[in-house]
Amino acid sequence: MQHTLIITHIREMDRYFPITNMLSDYEIDQFHNLILNISEHANFDLQLIGENKTRLSDIPNAVRYLVAGHLAEVFFYRQNILQKFLSQPRHFQIYTTPEAFQQDGGVYGGCYNPSRECIQLVMSRLFEGFNNALPGVCPFLHELGHMLDFFDAGSGSMKRNEGLYPGLNPKDGDLFNSHARDLFITGKRLELNRYLARLHGDLTQPLPIGHPYVFQNDGEFLAGYLEMFFRNPNYFAKQNIDLFNAYVELFGYDTRQAWQEDFPHYVNANKSFI
Ligand SMILES: [Zn+2]
Repeated sequence: MQHTLIITHIREMDRYFPITNMLSDYEIDQFHNLILNISEHANFDLQLIGENKTRLSDIPNAVRYLVAGHLAEVFFYRQNILQKFLSQPRHFQIYTTPEAFQQDGGVYGGCYNPSRECIQLVMSRLFEGFNNALPGVCPFLHELGHMLDFFDAGSGSMKRNEGLYPGLNPKDGDLFNSHARDLFITGKRLELNRYLARLHGDLTQPLPIGHPYVFQNDGEFLAGYLEMFFRNPNYFAKQNIDLFNAYVELFGYDTRQAWQEDFPHYVNANKSFI
């Protein structure tokens, strides 16, 4: 297949995707091919929006590559879920400036908008975590966590929002993984108990992995922990191996293989909150 998306030095894009640290050369080629296939998929609806809600036709290749690449990284070993995810149009609205984002109803530092079924994010936020040696904050992954919460893997629609990733709900049909669900429930309960213990002044329990922000509702838990699975897997696994293994089961790989050393920001932000 002839690809229309041209990235001249494709391997330079590897640094955006930690998974490439654990792949063979052959697999890295497959990974980049998957990115190209996603970026050209009829249901991959990437929109670039300027000020005054102007839809722009020239989407920079790097933007297209990054958004498709994050989907490829999350689902590289679970292309059956990806296929279901792309069985209906999936919308990603990227804004040229913070003003453009706000003018079109964007809130916080980025968001998943359930009524439009889309992620809304300022373009520069796609790049902000990649200025250092290790990949850093990744707001797109956070918003993808919210989007996956709404994704109903049984029907392919975006109507769910029950605090579960695709594969964790018995209604997910072939994609349901009961072992992952058991691990997720056990692991999440442990995190919640640790959070509540701290809230009540009990310092004998280990800290929960996530910042108090993620405990405000089930959706933030999904978004925050998805980001941490892809950024600080070593600490994640050490603190709560059941919950970590739920993610390994769901996404089909152990992200510790891609990270000799964690990106420490989320863990430090939580510790300093106390
Ligand atoms: Zn959030």
